[in-house]
Amino acid sequence: MKKLTPHHIHILKPYESARSIDLKGHVYLNANESPWINTVKYEHNNLNRYPEFQSSELLKKYSQYSYIPNNQILITRGADEGIELLVRAFCISGNDNIMFFPPTYDMYSVVADIFNIKKITVPILSDFQLDIKNIKKKINNVKLIYLCNPNNPTGNLFFRKDIMNILTIIPKTTLLIIDEAYIDYSIQDSFISELSRFNNLVILRTLSKAFGLSGIRCGFILSNINIINILKKVLAPYPIPTPVSNIAIKSLQSKNITIVKKNILQILKNKIFLINKIKSFLCVQNIFLSQTNFILIKFYQSKKVFQYLISKGIIIRDQSYKLGLENCLRISIGTINECKDLINILSMFEGNKI
Ligand SMILES: *Cc1c(COP(=O)(O)O)cnc(C)c1O
Repeated sequence: MKKLTPHHIHILKPYESARSIDLKGHVYLNANESPWINTVKYEHNNLNRYPEFQSSELLKKYSQYSYIPNNQILITRGADEGIELLVRAFCISGNDNIMFFPPTYDMYSVVADIFNIKKITVPILSDFQLDIKNIKKKINNVKLIYLCNPNNPTGNLFFRKDIMNILTIIPKTTLLIIDEAYIDYSIQDSFISELSRFNNLVILRTLSKAFGLSGIRCGFILSNINIINILKKVLAPYPIPTPVSNIAIKSLQSKNITIVKKNILQILKNKIFLINKIKSFLCVQNIFLSQTNFILIKFYQSKKVFQYLISKGIIIRDQSYKLGLENCLRISIGTINECKDLINILSMFEGNKI
């Protein structure tokens, strides 16, 4: 196997997704999914035919939702495929660099490793904001910059002026990719309005989070026509299965968007409820500000809290191994009952004393 496999693949560790870790419980707050089942129904038809390369109906619907013209949108198999397509289209293996700002979403690093691309990292500051000074120092010869805004797993938005600053200073041969997987929770903070001003801006979106459709694997790349046309060259011939487009189309009808917006407001309410209940718990050291459907919490003894919650069937995500996030756990915001479950069980942990 070692002789068969290129060295950079041989040394890869498979990405541990929330699903692949496979912890069993009854409350799942580990993958930032929506706790509500999206009820859009799909009727089978035409499955003997290959799908369109890009469903024109879905492009139309996402264009209406995002106010971006159809020809500036690419439909992908989740935002994860978007992350990979950009490397495939723009980076030369063993030669080019990408930049990102840890702690952040793991896939930027994973994709770089798979394609043997060098990683240039500039850790975020202790207030979780961008280290603009060091970004400027290291920005030369970077092909792609991946910026997760709001950031996963910290949950915060970056200062808009800092992102604008990056956009203004980067050379024409560098792309800034803003991963807006969670932007539906604070849609006014999107950078979509800047697409018309900056030729090297790319935005990633997904139906996996606020739209409650992680199961269909549908995302979007938004940029300018030139970049979209390059990306089309490296996308598979029939990338999006017909059932996926059909469900996505229905989820973008105004009736369903109303439900999604209602769910977003409910998540934001549940988040405030949860934070107010647990902020005074003795095991909690700090709850970080979040503009998303999850919160990052620093505990005094996160390993014990994590194990205790698992033993009670509540599954959350350990982040304590990440740069600067010692003793931190990430908790997705669930239904009000799931929040109450979590509060009750955490309060028993309190009672048990640490
Ligand atoms: C969940 C997530 C993704 C992946 O989205 P998919 O559309 O499900 O592939 C991408 N980026 C970030 C920051 C995420 O949290």
